[in-house]
Amino acid sequence: MTVKEVKTATRSRENKVDVLTQYQQERGQSKEQLHMVVIGHVDAGKSTLMGHLLYSLGQVNKKTMHKYEQESKKLGKQSFVYAWILDETGEERSRGITMDVGQSKFETATKVVTLLDAPGHKDFIPNMITGATQADVALLVVDATRGEFETGFESGGQTREHALLVRSLGVSQLGVVVNKLDTVGWSQERFEEVVGKLGAFLKQAGFTESNVTFVPCSGLTGENLTSPPSEDMLLQWYKGPCLLDVIDKFKAPERPVTKPFRLSVNDIFKGTGSGFCVSGRVETGMVQVADKVLVQPQNEGAVIKGLSIDDVAVQVAFAGDQVSVTLAGIDMQNVAVGYILCDPTQLIPVTSHFEARIVVFNIKVPITKGYAVILHHQSLVEQAVITKLVAQLNKSSGEVIKRQPRCLTRNSNAVVELEMSHPICMELYRDIKELGRFMLRVGGITVAAGLVTQV
Ligand code: GDP
Repeated sequence: MTVKEVKTATRSRENKVDVLTQYQQERGQSKEQLHMVVIGHVDAGKSTLMGHLLYSLGQVNKKTMHKYEQESKKLGKQSFVYAWILDETGEERSRGITMDVGQSKFETATKVVTLLDAPGHKDFIPNMITGATQADVALLVVDATRGEFETGFESGGQTREHALLVRSLGVSQLGVVVNKLDTVGWSQERFEEVVGKLGAFLKQAGFTESNVTFVPCSGLTGENLTSPPSEDMLLQWYKGPCLLDVIDKFKAPERPVTKPFRLSVNDIFKGTGSGFCVSGRVETGMVQVADKVLVQPQNEGAVIKGLSIDDVAVQVAFAGDQVSVTLAGIDMQNVAVGYILCDPTQLIPVTSHFEARIVVFNIKVPITKGYAVILHHQSLVEQAVITKLVAQLNKSSGEVIKRQPRCLTRNSNAVVELEMSHPICMELYRDIKELGRFMLRVGGITVAAGLVTQV
């Protein structure tokens, strides 16, 4: 398509979607993108499950796998072999794995799935939280072993906490892996018991029944991961999809091409010709060469001189594309990482004060008024203070439990007000999801994650 054709075709909002489709075909991107986070109680078998899945899909080379098998045999821990695939901390083991393109990408029939912060052993919890703030969908893994499911599900277990966390962060589609079913003789009764208990809880937690799919598996034996069951005892009663098909059936988020253009700057560098380049993700809308844009919060105009995706020059880029942009008409000093390029006719709100709904994590010191934090919003890192505790909320229903609480303790949900040290670009979560979520950290530890409710 020529620039002129694109201009004409995208004049109406509806047509933008058609143009996107055409471009995806031209660029050979026929599969939808999906970001998935894996959650669940420690030892539920998350690493083993995902490692086995990646292995079955050919993401790990045979030689590496063979080495793991030898090593694990020596240690008498054959069962750990798949978990090692995801265990980045063992440097020796991670070398040689074919995971250049991001170790945790795999494909289903219709999707390219990115595993967010794969559940490596040590740092899983903090990573899971980071992952949860970017996830489109989640996979909840529970251990079906008698007594173990109960431990993970009852108080102190992480099953409930994780499910509530992803729901609070806007994830609405959930796959539930009823794992280690080999330990209970592939019992249908046990599967249904877990489905019954967990299903009732998830409904309470705000998940719609039609958005939750339960799937019986064994990460260890590989049963029902990437192909229909071969185990007779499971075949007798289970006729549903395997795990890979469950993931394939998730609805990919729509690429928000009809929303106003926003690109968050991740990097700035000198280009080859005149002007300079910034790179980042088009969060919403679309952008074309020769478009005028505004750089916020600096409020400086600029012109798009060139666009490229994966080092290939393009005329247009859409929501979801990672692009390099050559800018002209603006000084390099007036752009910084974390800034947003936006449509000058549809400005992004700039504010130093906003209200948000937050999920407080497992913190030692309760949050009180005046609590200083570091706010992470896209690539922006900025100092902030919690200036007001508006209300504490019920974790499942979101109802107000207490107005103006004196403090917020671990694992609570609340509405708070924040004051930034500088004005920043912020969107309401309900308008533009991608720019309406953030994390709060103190001393390198994530203390809370949140969604912007008012600016
Ligand atoms: P994570 O903490 O959730 O990542 O759990 P791991 O993957 O590390 O697994 C915890 C333990 O459960 C390990 O000893 C695994 O070998 C074992 N395990 C994992 N999946 C299965 C399974 O499907 N069946 C059986 N019997 N054991 C499993």
